[in-house]
Parts: sequence; C-alpha cells; structure tokens
Amino acid sequence: MRRLVARKLSVLAVSAAVVSVGAAAPPAAAGKATGKVPVAVGYGGAVASVDADASAAGIEVLRKGGNAVDAAVATAAALGVTEPYSAGIGGGGYFVYYDADSRTVRTIDGRETAPLSADPGLFLENGAPIPFAEAVSSGLSVGTPGTPATWQRALDRWGSRSLKSVLKPAERLAREGFTVDETFRAQTAANETRFRYFPDTADLFLPGGRLPAVGSTFKNPDLARTYAEIARKGVDTLYRGRLAHDIVDTVNRPPVDPASGWNARPGDLTTRDLAAYRTKLQAPSKASYRGYGVYSMAPSSSGGTTVGEALNILEHSDLSRASEVRYLHRYIEASRIAFADRGRWVGDPAFEDVPTKELLSQRYADSRECLIKDDAVLTSPVAPGDPRDPAGCDARGTAAPTTYEGDSTTHLTVADKWGNVVSYTLTIEQTGGSGITVPGRGFLLNNELTDFSFAPASPDVHDPNLPGPGKRPRSSMSPTIVLDRHDKPVVALGSPGGATIITTVLQTLTGHLDRGLPLVDAIAAPRASQRNQTTTELEPGLYDSPLRTKLEAIGHGFRLNPEIGAATGVQRLPGGKWLAAAEKERRGGGSAMVVRPAR
Ligand code: GLU
Repeated sequence: MRRLVARKLSVLAVSAAVVSVGAAAPPAAAGKATGKVPVAVGYGGAVASVDADASAAGIEVLRKGGNAVDAAVATAAALGVTEPYSAGIGGGGYFVYYDADSRTVRTIDGRETAPLSADPGLFLENGAPIPFAEAVSSGLSVGTPGTPATWQRALDRWGSRSLKSVLKPAERLAREGFTVDETFRAQTAANETRFRYFPDTADLFLPGGRLPAVGSTFKNPDLARTYAEIARKGVDTLYRGRLAHDIVDTVNRPPVDPASGWNARPGDLTTRDLAAYRTKLQAPSKASYRGYGVYSMAPSSSGGTTVGEALNILEHSDLSRASEVRYLHRYIEASRIAFADRGRWVGDPAFEDVPTKELLSQRYADSRECLIKDDAVLTSPVAPGDPRDPAGCDARGTAAPTTYEGDSTTHLTVADKWGNVVSYTLTIEQTGGSGITVPGRGFLLNNELTDFSFAPASPDVHDPNLPGPGKRPRSSMSPTIVLDRHDKPVVALGSPGGATIITTVLQTLTGHLDRGLPLVDAIAAPRASQRNQTTTELEPGLYDSPLRTKLEAIGHGFRLNPEIGAATGVQRLPGGKWLAAAEKERRGGGSAMVVRPAR
C-alpha cells in the first residue's frame, strides 16, 4: 500500500505541481496518491483538501459509489491523521451540504461547546484576563468536541455509507503511516516547546524525543485503535462511553510533566457536558450577490453573515471593470465595515439575540456602503451600525476593536457524480490545539474556547461573545456554496485562518466571480485582510508590489503577513464535469483530485 506513505511531497515535487497548473490533471485514482496538484478536472466527482492522502481517501469512497457526504467524512477523518494539528475528533467544525435532488443547502453546526459550569469569568483571574498563551495550552480552553457527532449526523441525514465504512481509509492511514513533509515538520517544530510539557503529546509527535524527519513514515497506532473503536461502537463511545471518561479526565487533570514548570490550568468538563452535546441542523446564511445565492454558515459562526454583508456592500460596485487598486480599495473597506458589525452583533444565537436576517439585508448593506469614499480610507475601529434600524451613513456609534483568533484549521470541498456538494471547515483552533493529547488515544484536544472574548472588547459596547454555560464560541469559519439562478452549484470553497478566513473567502469569491480569475488562480492570488483594524495585512505578493504604494496614497496602512489561509474549492463545469482546486504554494500546496480525469 504505497499510497499510505505517499503523502506530503518534498519541496521539489510541490514546485513540480505548481508548474503543472492549468495542464491536464495527472491520474488521481484511489490507491495512487502520487502527488499533490492544485487543480484537477474530470468526472465522477472531485475532492480538494490540503493533503494528498486525505483527498485520496475521499476519492476512494466516491469511486466505490459513495456520495459527497460519505467522501467528505472520509476525507475529514484522514485529515485527522495527516493534519492532526489542524483538525480531528478532538475538535469541531461546520458542514455545509448542497442536496442535488432538492436543490437546497443545509448546514450542521458542529461547534465545540463550553462546559455547563462556564460563565463570563471563565478566563479571568482576580478580575483580569489570564495571558492568552497560558489559556491556549490548558484544560480550561477545551470545549466539548463536535466533530465526531457532525460526521454521524451528516451520514445519518444525507450519507449512503456507515461511519464504520468511511472511517476505513483513515484508520489504515493511521496504522500504516504517512510520509512526513516540510509542513508537518515545521508545524511540529513550532509547537515543540509546549508539546514537551505534555509527555503523551511528546511521545506521539516527537518520536524518539526528536522532530519527525522529512521523508520518514509517521504512524499513529493509538488513533487507528480509536477510529476502530468508534467504528465498532459508534460515536456514542466519545460522548457517553470510555472515550468520554478519558477526555474528561484529561481535561480536568491535564497530564503535564511537573518538571516542565508549565501551569496547565485544569478545565471543568463533566461526563454530563459530553452526554449533552448536540450538533445543530440549521438553515444556511444566504446573501444574494449579482444573481447568485451565496450560502454559508449562520451563527454561531460569523462567517456567513460577515462574508454576506461585505458582498452586499460590494453589490453596487462594478468590480469586474474596476482597476486593481479600486477593486482592492473597495474590498478592504467593505470588509472593514462588515467586521465592525460582526464584533457587535454576532455570538451564539442560543444566548444572544443575533440579527442574522437584518445583517444580510441589502437595505442594511446600502446604509453601510455609503460610508466608503473613493479617495479616502475609513478610520478603524469603525463603529457598528444597527441592522434593525439602518440609518443613512451614520458612523457615530461607539467602536470596539476586533478580538484575536488563532490561525490553524483545515477546509475540504467535495462534489459527487450526482451533483451533491459538501463544503466543510473543521478545526482544533490553534495549530496543535491545546497541545494536550488524550493518553493512549492518539489525538489532540482543541483549545476552541479561546475564541471567546476573555473580557468585553470595549467596556462601552455589548460583547456577544463572552463565555457562558454550554455556549458556542463565535467562529469565523465560512464554508461556502454558491448557486446560480436555477439553484445549481457554481462554486464551493472555504479556508482556514481564524478571522482571516472571512477575508480569504470574500477575496477568493470576488476574484473568481467578479474578476474572472480561474478558481485555482483566485485561490493563489496574494491576499489582503482587513478586519476593522488600523492596518490591513498583506501577503508579500501585494506588500512588495506597486499596488501597495497606490493604495497608501489613498490613505491605507499595511503590515506584512507572510501567509494568509489555505483555501480549497470545487467548480461545476458543464456536462457533469468538476474542477477541484487547492493552493499552489501555501502550506506546501494543496491536493485537488477527481475520480476520472478529463483528457
Ligand atoms: N477557531 C477559529 C474559528 O473558529 C478557526 C481557527 C483557524 O482557522 O485557525 O474561527
């Protein structure tokens, strides 16, 4: 089974994949994850993820007659093996599904929840927020995982295969191993210090006490056994069975090396918390943009409302004919305004009265769009508006800064031969999550609760994202599916990157839909990210270009961000053909595959 060690190419091979962009996709048959290519075109269905073995797991399921939901779960489970620092059964996520029969979009909110004992003081000590880094590597930040329940719910509702069957490729991958690449080694190195605080994590991810060597085979037999147990007993074992007890023990008594000196604060998770966990089936967010329906996650994620509001703000700008400077200017300003509203209005709707519909109304967007000037830049923080009472060009409210979010996570996109589509973003929050491995179980626990505001972002502005019992921390994940006027899919995509997810999705959508970039080029385009902050982050491709000077002349301020996001997507082509697209370079390049490549 060479496939199992074919993951994660050397830098050389990745460059070769970049060269192949636009050329016919190489064969991507299951059983031959021969390399990573960022674009593939063909029939029978498509999978795009950051990793070749994970995409191959999805393709294997499609090839055997499974549908997009079956393949998405198989891909996600494989990512839990090969991208264990970004996603896995210790985390949560958001699953967006297009059903070809009914031509409708449905979603599952599989976000982690805070313990039932949590209150707004969760991250306060003596009245002050604890240091962020200390919260990250602690039991305190671990929410009840939602990912296993998401997989089961999606399969129950829309799948055609059992969880047992779709977990097989991932279980095999964990048992037989995958080949370590530069990205995996670099992510391990970035976490090495804190991984050593937790001996079970160090034993797993620092084999022999060292960083895994590029080219070596990385096996995770504990995770293989855990997947086998879930396959046998169902996800209930994680919410009510032995695995639930293991998780609770680990969170409440983090297995830290006393010699490390790390103060691993315990959490307060109970078996009741795990037993009470439920995913939520809910209506998607919808924005109408240039005749398309843009569907994504409604709160508890802020992704759908923020991308949607920004698109609505841009609705009256002719971005297809604008100069590059004008396009970027308007994109940046629309994003700035949408983030101002996100901060004030979006939190878990089970706890907060979130005006989802109003945030997505064109009338509200129009009342915000008029703040944008062609020859000047808005000053951040811009104050939020009131979507329930739109006022013309009123920027007088009280502003609050945007709170911090991590930047790990992974996104996968799948289409099948029946025309169903899945856009699924999943995470354990920070790269490496809490850094705490459940002993003997082979997976890391999330630190998702650090997505809550530790304290209100401003004492004068209501913060809808403070911790609460059983509450879901606000997310930025924006798995998106775009439909045409006939409710048929056009394109589906998403990205990791904390709050930059929103800007990456927005920029990629406008790049593709308005600027006419092929999907793979819209994904590869250098990114800008403005989140209601004084400066806008630019990747080097923009930071080092003359465009920066032109934008600075209008009044923009910038700072460099070496890499923003790692998107994947699929595009429907005529005649049952699909195009899968992934990153050419970011995170070592992504992996696009189809079942039967077009010639
Ligand atoms: N925890 C973040 C969120 O839910 C995602 C983290 C990331 O993408 O790195 O929005």
